[in-house]
Amino acid sequence: MRLRVLRSFLFILTLSSLFVDVSVSISFPPAVGLQIARQFPLWLRFIRSSKLLSSFWNKLKSFFTFKELKLGDIAKGLSNVKDYLDLFGYLNSTSHSNFSDYFTLDLQSAIIKYQKNFNLNVTGKLDRNTYNVISRPRCGVPDVVNGTTTMNLGASNTTSFKPWWKEGKRELTYAFHPENNVTNGVRLLFRDAFDRWSNVTLLKFTETTRFNGSDVKIAFVVFDGKGGAVGVTDTDYSEHVGNVYLDSEEEWVVLGENEDGDVDLESVVMHLVGHVLGLGHSSVEEAVMYPIVSKEKTEFALDDLQRIHQIYGVNSK
Ligand SMILES: [Zn+2]
Repeated sequence: MRLRVLRSFLFILTLSSLFVDVSVSISFPPAVGLQIARQFPLWLRFIRSSKLLSSFWNKLKSFFTFKELKLGDIAKGLSNVKDYLDLFGYLNSTSHSNFSDYFTLDLQSAIIKYQKNFNLNVTGKLDRNTYNVISRPRCGVPDVVNGTTTMNLGASNTTSFKPWWKEGKRELTYAFHPENNVTNGVRLLFRDAFDRWSNVTLLKFTETTRFNGSDVKIAFVVFDGKGGAVGVTDTDYSEHVGNVYLDSEEEWVVLGENEDGDVDLESVVMHLVGHVLGLGHSSVEEAVMYPIVSKEKTEFALDDLQRIHQIYGVNSK
């Protein structure tokens, strides 16, 4: 009898061990010696003055003591929401700074555009649902480029993409910044992400140890602390280089389930490589190209496939 109890106990113990959270999350030593590309998009300019960006996210978070705001209202800290909407292309600002705390018409139309992109109720107000999306970690690439949204119009909105790599090239190399000391596990994770994209494009990706000579340069750099923006990309047509920057201070999950606040590395890598290959953001929450960070998401949604097929043809291999 005792033996049976013991056996049952061992069985339950073994069974439960299968469900134990084996998640491993890591931060990376940042590539401090990295020379960021000469043509700085707005985000990369912020990266250079990361103290500013870090305080921006903290101010934005502290503003979310919830109170619904509408046209004509004044609220201390509302300028931070304008900064956020400006960073992601929603405000047609030329100065990109010194926003007021007034709820202006410009802000209202930016919020309407934002709500449409994220399939929220289009109220034109800063309401709870809108706050909830704004406050989540996300990709640093803008949703709206030169006044045109990359989202919510379905696959037909994919812009005609011109490769930044040398014409006719089908085999691209990628490399990690040496200061990041990435482990073999992380290399495999990137390998897997590149392979998934390779399956739906004409392209082949191979890792190289020559960072400076590689087509896609990958670097973990200091951004804005945990949360906020988790990664951003940049392509340089004159140098034929695609850059993938990731936030070295996130709690990156490389294996297993992610807990609150942790970010699944492979999902973000999949997303950023999608940008390098010419895709913009998607409004479809299940899509790899949805800009807000969620749980693990490494499988393409129909929307991702439709967009990539528009550029590269249907399974072009
Ligand atoms: Zn993105």
